[in-house]
Parts: sequence; structure tokens; C-alpha cells
Amino acid sequence: MNKIARRKFMQLSAAAAAGYFMQPSREALASELPHLTLDDLMAQAMKYTHDASTVDPATRNNPATDQDCANCDLIQGIEGDAWRPCQIFPGKAVAAGGWCSVWQPKA
Ligand code: SF4
Repeated sequence: MNKIARRKFMQLSAAAAAGYFMQPSREALASELPHLTLDDLMAQAMKYTHDASTVDPATRNNPATDQDCANCDLIQGIEGDAWRPCQIFPGKAVAAGGWCSVWQPKA
């Protein structure tokens, strides 16, 4: 990650964290959350896609092979749901089969 990308990531992460902690009930209305769109500026900054299979593994920061939102440590909501909340995108639902550059293995 170059210097500008890192700075942008830190700015967006701070904004995401602020939104995350300000949400009164982030789990309650998961099924009613609007879906994250590909034209969302933060989604673009994080290289989000609805389909993890379209991502070239060589472009990932993390070398783990099996990566999608459903097996990311930052996903929330109910296992098996097609669209779920994510800590990085407060107020939006991400596709379980999606992916972004912040993907982290579950602890
Ligand atoms: Fe998906 Fe994880 Fe990125 Fe959220 S942080 S969009 S769950 S890969």
C-alpha cells in the first residue's frame, strides 16, 4: 500500500469506526440495511466487489487463499444470510460472497 493509499485508508477507517460506534442498534435491522453499491466512494477505496471470485489473488495484501465476506472477521449479522452488515461499512450490507481489501481471517 503506497503512502497516499495508506493515508486514504486511515481516513476512511476512522470514518467507518466513528459510524460503527454511533449506530444504536447495528444488528437489529440487518435485513433492512441498504446494500453497499459499487459506486460508493469508500467501497471503491477498499476495492469492494460483490463477487470475491473476480479478485485476482495476486493483488491481495493478505495471502490467505479462501477470502470472501462470509469468512472475514469483520462481517456481522447472521451466518448464511446473503447480505450482512460489516464493521467497515456501517449502515450498509455487504454480499456474503463479496470481498474488499480489508479482509481479515477470523480470529
Ligand atoms: Fe467483506 Fe470483510 Fe471487506 Fe467487510 S471488511 S467488505 S466483510 S471483506
